[in-house]
Amino acid sequence: MRRRRPLLLLLAAAAFAFEARAQGPSAQRRATTAVDNVLVVTFDGFRWQELFGGYEGAFNTKADGGVAVAAQEPLKARFDRATPQARRETLLPFFWTVVAREGQVFGDASRKSRVRITNGLWFSYPGYNEMLSGAADPRIDSNDKKVNPNLTVLEWLNRRPGFEGRVAAYGSWDVLPFIVAAERSGVHANGDGPAILEPASERDHLLNAVTDDLPHYWAGGRFDAPTMQGALEYFRTRKPRVLYVMLGETDEWAHGRRYDLYLDAAWRSDRFVKRLWELAQSLPEYRGRTALVLATDHGRGAMPADWTDHGEKVPAAEPIWMAVMGPHTPALGVREGVEATQSQLAATVAALLGQDFRAASPAAAPSLPDVVR
Ligand SMILES: [Zn+2]
Repeated sequence: MRRRRPLLLLLAAAAFAFEARAQGPSAQRRATTAVDNVLVVTFDGFRWQELFGGYEGAFNTKADGGVAVAAQEPLKARFDRATPQARRETLLPFFWTVVAREGQVFGDASRKSRVRITNGLWFSYPGYNEMLSGAADPRIDSNDKKVNPNLTVLEWLNRRPGFEGRVAAYGSWDVLPFIVAAERSGVHANGDGPAILEPASERDHLLNAVTDDLPHYWAGGRFDAPTMQGALEYFRTRKPRVLYVMLGETDEWAHGRRYDLYLDAAWRSDRFVKRLWELAQSLPEYRGRTALVLATDHGRGAMPADWTDHGEKVPAAEPIWMAVMGPHTPALGVREGVEATQSQLAATVAALLGQDFRAASPAAAPSLPDVVR
């Protein structure tokens, strides 16, 4: 008897191990509250004021908004409504009728829920580094094309079992490959030039041809259209598990003092998120197994004269917003009384996937609270 007991224990342990193996990693993940895939989309320099309140009539002028007199009435007709709720739903219909109802929104100052940037610089590269690496880094003090020395959640995931080669970043800015340290991290990065880097189909080649025919309007940045269409096609055909899309036109048109095109860019960005989400729900590997994270790299000035600007001299650019939606994210809507920081994005992306980014990067801020059931 005494000699058989260890054997029985051994058999029991072996059976248990076999069962755990038979379930496989994805079965174990589904048994928990993690998703298999995460989509992250950022709207560059998109103000919380429009996110929560929609169109601002004070900016629909020639002097402050750069809106041609003939375009002012049409802009008002398109986006002005009687209440802030109706205005924001008109500007960002997917965000407010789907994301805010089925997910969570952070950053509503009127509900004591601010999201702050901690890098103190309030412009793009420091912001993208903070959100993707989970911490502000004083060495990132310009938008220069320097390889990010920090481990981003994208790089970390791209080295995790099951994620290798399945992490991609699309953007409208040629600094994107540096922010995600594409060469070192192996993350597929497309920030300018052709919409599809390794065209394989007629459709890929057509997308690249259309992209090539668009005006080269900004130095270092392309229109969001090739970024959007490239990201959708890359997602549909290459099936990344983590896809980050950095949209840029909201910032570009704001700097250009074109309130009409800034709002139009925001509206198209929202439509892109809808298309991306609906595409995910149409694919069996993604339906019900995918989470969405939305954010911005910085805010902007609050006044008609300086809404175009951001950076250290514009303190109003510090507060931002974030949103999360997914099958295991409680539908808490607009969160109340929650103080958060931009740096919490990285751990949030990992937490949605059932992963602990802070185990690899202890300096990273924790996940947003209560976004995983
Ligand atoms: Zn900017």
